[in-house]
Amino acid sequence: MTESAQPEKPDVMLLPSSVRSRVALGLTAAAARGRFELQVCRNCGAVQYPPREACGGCLGSILDWTLQDGAGELISETLLCHSHDEFFRAYLPIRLGLVKLDCGPTAVVYVADAVRAAPTRVRVAVRLDKAGNAALVAMAANASDTPLTGTLGLLLRIPP
Ligand SMILES: [Zn+2]
Repeated sequence: MTESAQPEKPDVMLLPSSVRSRVALGLTAAAARGRFELQVCRNCGAVQYPPREACGGCLGSILDWTLQDGAGELISETLLCHSHDEFFRAYLPIRLGLVKLDCGPTAVVYVADAVRAAPTRVRVAVRLDKAGNAALVAMAANASDTPLTGTLGLLLRIPP
């Protein structure tokens, strides 16, 4: 009697989740051009994140994608050590944080190795992840657009 063979593991390339709303594609389209753009309400001027179909302040429906400088404050951070998503398990631990952008919204972002512990000033940039979706990254406030290193350098594509 022979031992039963283990089923072969499928040979597939794992990618991060790509389930996004249609309106979020605006963020990704700008990221593909190397630009960090957020929606700005033409009626009240509010800047919003995450992308939505209508303004969170006045329900205005005309939202213009507008270039942002990404300046903000890293107000908290954590180290992600577990994920139910098989793709992310290969990159753990991952440093994540909350950035209060000077333009208004607060965003969950990846935090680059060079960023000091919260609270600290940062500059949020946008990159494309391996699935081609926009991913926000907090860089040191005075950092240039050099390629990311460490875990984030592996997790995210190099800038376009
Ligand atoms: Zn508005």
